[in-house]
Amino acid sequence: MIDMREIYVDKLFQEALTEFNHKELDGDCTGVSECKWKVFKKAFLEFTNSKCPICEKLIDEYSHIDHYRPKDKTLYPFLECCYQNYMLMCPVCNSTYKKTDFPLYGQNRIRAKNKSELTNEKPLIANPLHDDIYELFELQFINTTKGKSILILNPRKDLDEYKKAKAEKTIEFYGIGNCDNNEKMSSCRIDLLEEHYERLLDFARLSKKCLTQKTEENKKILAGYVKDKPNIKKYGFYKFIVKNQFKIAV
Ligand SMILES: [Zn+2]
Repeated sequence: MIDMREIYVDKLFQEALTEFNHKELDGDCTGVSECKWKVFKKAFLEFTNSKCPICEKLIDEYSHIDHYRPKDKTLYPFLECCYQNYMLMCPVCNSTYKKTDFPLYGQNRIRAKNKSELTNEKPLIANPLHDDIYELFELQFINTTKGKSILILNPRKDLDEYKKAKAEKTIEFYGIGNCDNNEKMSSCRIDLLEEHYERLLDFARLSKKCLTQKTEENKKILAGYVKDKPNIKKYGFYKFIVKNQFKIAV
């Protein structure tokens, strides 16, 4: 998962926003005759190193712009042209998993009918554009009972009830964790998670060692590893490892 909170100040995004706003009638996201969300694709691809912000599968210009709150007529049609509601996502996250679902937390799950009511909602799906993903998730390298070696996301410890529910729901929703739970296993994205495990395990092991013994020698070894494999820094998961938010199950 990729922390996207800085994208709005990104130069490419700002340029796209200027182009986008020229198509708006009143500068807000209402009263727009035509909203071409595609103008943001380049900025998203550049910012994420062409990875899906949720699952880190590789994406390209044919990937989908997702509406975080679905623009479906029965849900949030008033957000169809709000750029804050856009994110470039892989087709699997977008069309196979997310679709037009948008679960909310709490007893009174009253859905917002306009922009001003949005602050009353408690979405159960994390949004890397606005949420602090490091507060919600940690990584775990595991071997499943079915013999698969995969990298999954787990909710962090000591979250309040809402954040815990949000982290758990997000993981289940996109099939990026909870993979040893027999009931949920079929929706887990094993192939992709196996690939992440393979690409990141050595770096995680080395980081663990260097974080336990912070010697100059170890720091040099770690820096050397990253220099030799610059692609490792293109992962959003890289930052979780650097922040020591990961576990390796033996
Ligand atoms: Zn994805």
